[in-house]
Amino acid sequence: MSLNPADSSFEDLIRSHLPAEVLRPLAPRYLEEPRGQWQGHTALLAAPRSVDEVATLVRLASEARVAVIPYGGGTGLVGGQVMPAGPAPLLVSLERMTQVRAVYPEENVLICEAGTVLADVQAAARAAGRLFPLSLAAEGTARIGGNLATNAGGTGVLRYGNTRDLCLGLEAVLPSGETWHGLKRLRKDNTGYDLRHLLIGSEGTLGVITAAALKLSPQPAQIGTAIFAVSSPQAAVSLLSLARDQLGEMVSAFELLNGQGLAFLQQTLPDIRQPFEKAPQWSVLIEVGLAKGMSPQEALEQMFQAGHDVGIVTDGVIAQSGQQADDFWSVREHIPEANKRVGALCSHDMSLPLGELARFIDRADALIRKMGDFRVNCFGHVGDGNLHYNVFPPEGQNREAFKHLRGDVMRRLHDLVDEMGGSVSAEHGVGRLKVDDLERYADPTKLSAMRAIKAALDPKGIMNPGAVLKPAG
Ligand SMILES: Cc1cc2nc3c(=O)[nH]c(=O)nc-3n(C[C@H](O)[C@H](O)[C@H](O)COP(=O)(O)OP(=O)(O)OC[C@H]3O[C@@H](n4cnc5c(N)ncnc54)[C@H](O)[C@@H]3O)c2cc1C
Repeated sequence: MSLNPADSSFEDLIRSHLPAEVLRPLAPRYLEEPRGQWQGHTALLAAPRSVDEVATLVRLASEARVAVIPYGGGTGLVGGQVMPAGPAPLLVSLERMTQVRAVYPEENVLICEAGTVLADVQAAARAAGRLFPLSLAAEGTARIGGNLATNAGGTGVLRYGNTRDLCLGLEAVLPSGETWHGLKRLRKDNTGYDLRHLLIGSEGTLGVITAAALKLSPQPAQIGTAIFAVSSPQAAVSLLSLARDQLGEMVSAFELLNGQGLAFLQQTLPDIRQPFEKAPQWSVLIEVGLAKGMSPQEALEQMFQAGHDVGIVTDGVIAQSGQQADDFWSVREHIPEANKRVGALCSHDMSLPLGELARFIDRADALIRKMGDFRVNCFGHVGDGNLHYNVFPPEGQNREAFKHLRGDVMRRLHDLVDEMGGSVSAEHGVGRLKVDDLERYADPTKLSAMRAIKAALDPKGIMNPGAVLKPAG
């Protein structure tokens, strides 16, 4: 079914139904995405202030058959928030819907609008003596609606789960322009199909999320942070198992770092303080959040000792202050920026069963070596089996010279992930980047059910066309 552009007559239609300030000037940043792979060609930008204004915009778009792209912080890494071709869409930015509507500390619940920046959600929870554990390097820009729409992961998944696990209820506008009022604060609600779980991870293809009831947690009484050098990726996995034997669910983060990534960091962002004089080939950043009366120093020392005794930990630094802990996290959080400055040929966001992770790295490295003298920065949320396996051109060479190999490198790595029982999109989503991958690797029954759901909820195909699924017909 063909769509119409958001042209001047559509703009006039919006002006006749909504306050003038809903339509905003379109700054270039709305047409760009962090990795520069897609460029939106044109769009009309609306920034509504309420769910009713969102509903009016979507209803008008549905009647006029204009594409709608929900827009959060624009930090998505798979191109879901930009439409590079086709009739100009209406971008619906949630940037003016940033209210924390209520906090219920006793219930461990916070309700906020979808445009609330993730760091502000964390701060509101903290102010109420609680923790909102979703944490990722883009948290100062990404908005909670975008986090929900992408089912974002980040560094706290090991202990607290993905964004999906942190959401109790949603308010959303469906493609028809109808509003679903699902902002319940219930932990148990078995009343049929759960629209919440359909919308979470739908990347703007099934509706616009306008508010959410989020699950909070108690703040850990003590936090400890350390970086341990490990002998191999398998050693990292074994150390995680050992750490969980000792501390159970109190291991909050377990991040794999690679020597190549630390070298990129040294080269491009030398002001970031690194914990080791000579970067180890493999290391893990560990955070533990402990109960009252427990000593993080002792817990981490015991972990180090146990790992050292069995030969998997070779060196380590335990943070002695909040500043040092921040410095460790700064290393981890600046790795994507360093990668960007060096310029990857291709990046991958994949997950594997934990037991296959080390074998995957060996096989992937062997595969890449056969294809050329590429450099690899393999890092990630190893506790979740989530690797960012990023491939870079050889030292001193430009990625443009290798562009023709990009598709082949990605295909081979994704085939390997699939063969080993993994996923080709662990936490970033499908967006526009992985539409073909979804067709290639998804279970056919799942894919046809997804198409049926899309057709039922969005028969005109106005919601973020071209993202996740190929447009029908
Ligand atoms: C430096 C950096 C580090 C990152 N680290 C991580 C990480 O550790 N883990 C991780 O999972 N991701 C990570 N990301 C990716 C990104 O931050 C997440 O995908 C984030 O959840 C996107 O939120 P956003 O508000 O920026 O969404 P946007 O980029 O604006 O949009 C992303 C998608 O969600 C849709 N969408 C946005 N808002 C809504 C809404 N209200 N209703 C319906 N659909 C909507 C858009 O249409 C689009 O398809 C990182 C990105 C960067 C730049």
